Amino acid sequence: MPSKNLVQGEKGLLCPKCSHLNPGDLKQCEYCNSQLFVKCKKCGAKVQRVISKCPECRHRVHMSPFRELKKRLFGKSQKITLAQTVIMMIVAYGAFKVITIAASKF
Ligand SMILES: [Zn+2]
Ligand SMILES: [Zn+2]
Repeated sequence: MPSKNLVQGEKGLLCPKCSHLNPGDLKQCEYCNSQLFVKCKKCGAKVQRVISKCPECRHRVHMSPFRELKKRLFGKSQKITLAQTVIMMIVAYGAFKVITIAASKF
């Protein structure tokens, strides 16, 4: 899982879509052809898609995939609702049950 090393290094550019490491200064991923750069809306600088903030003016270029996922899961509010807590507890309890049943069989 490439959680670290998302920034351009000596090795090349990491594709935001397929995590393929592209050598040199390619504009597109050589594996899946997705764009590796976005243009900053504020200052017009060329920013890597794997970076969420413009290095020139600190303007947020786009949301990171994690934040997008979080937004999709929890909506606009950053707080976890009671219903979501209950669902998580049920899931955790279910997983616990499965583990105990599986363990008792051996
Ligand atoms: Zn790619
Ligand atoms: Zn900028």
